[in-house]
Amino acid sequence: MEISTKDIDALRVLVAGEPQRMVVVSHTNPDGDAVGSSLAWAEYLRRKGHHVVCVVPNRFPSFLEWMPQVESLKIYKLHADEVEHAVVQADAIFCIDFNQLERLEGVGPLIEQNRRATKVLIDHHLDPTPVFDLLISYPPISSTAYLVYRLIEALDGSAQAIDRTMAEQLYVGIMTDTGNFSYSFLTPDLFRAVAVLVEKGIDIPHINRMVYHSFTSDRLRLLGHALNKMQIVEVNGYRAAWITLSEAELRRFNFQIGDSEGFVNYPLSIRGLALSAIFIETRAFIRASFRSREDIDASIFARRYFDGGGHKNASGGKSFTSLAETVENYKKAVGEFFG
Ligand code: 5GP
Ligand code: MN
Repeated sequence: MEISTKDIDALRVLVAGEPQRMVVVSHTNPDGDAVGSSLAWAEYLRRKGHHVVCVVPNRFPSFLEWMPQVESLKIYKLHADEVEHAVVQADAIFCIDFNQLERLEGVGPLIEQNRRATKVLIDHHLDPTPVFDLLISYPPISSTAYLVYRLIEALDGSAQAIDRTMAEQLYVGIMTDTGNFSYSFLTPDLFRAVAVLVEKGIDIPHINRMVYHSFTSDRLRLLGHALNKMQIVEVNGYRAAWITLSEAELRRFNFQIGDSEGFVNYPLSIRGLALSAIFIETRAFIRASFRSREDIDASIFARRYFDGGGHKNASGGKSFTSLAETVENYKKAVGEFFG
């Protein structure tokens, strides 16, 4: 996947220009790719002389707490004033790893309020909304972190600016968004980039342990509970699974943000399963996540039935009815989708 020279030239005007006040912001419920790619991009901009505030709407999961510079993230839920000030004052705003301002909750309206700032999207989700001045959108790139790597390389003509800290941040994004190198878009160039990150001194077994082997026993028991509750329907030879978790169940297992990350992937380890869903009750609505086998488009499913979207094999959405009704709607949707 080539990065267009038009995108690089436009980006260079901003990056190599006069020092500016910049905001780098990623999505609500930030995952490894959101945190890794925005920290690395923010650091790169600082090296180019800019004043950068790196923002996320709410807390990141605890398995990312060890990441270098993660303490520099301004969390809107905790530091609303600081974030508001930075966003309203910014000359440039980089939106990282999401495709519509709605995914920012309270931070979205602040960005809209700042009509003066140049707004740039750096992302790999399908169908970005056209509210940005510069759209750097590459859905066939496996993670935003890898996209950031490619942008830095294209802007500078080399990966020299990437030090060990940035390499760790980028690797976390690449590793988590590819499911530890098991999903789609695993190109030779991606592995060449990873080789460069290894040359920068990253410790892959250490990163693996910190991200994947750092859970609480409550989280593991919640996973066991969720898997036991899994149900499956079959339509026309297509099997679709679902799991629900109510607020009461989450409380019972001392739920912490990030604990349910990855649960939705497990049913796909069943041979022949086409679609997996998890419905998690929150105070305001039910958060839905979908994962699908390579040939099934989960982003269409999420858009059509759950007011969401995402990638072909990993998507999400929302439901504003009860858990029971949401499951009925899911079964109906599966019947129609595979019918
Ligand atoms: P996850 O299941 O990890 O929360 O989300 C998987 C992917 O689905 C995300 O990368 C994101 O692209 C997409 N996604 C999740 N929730 C929503 C949503 O409410 N709206 C849209 N448009 N996409 C979502
Ligand atoms: Mn991503």
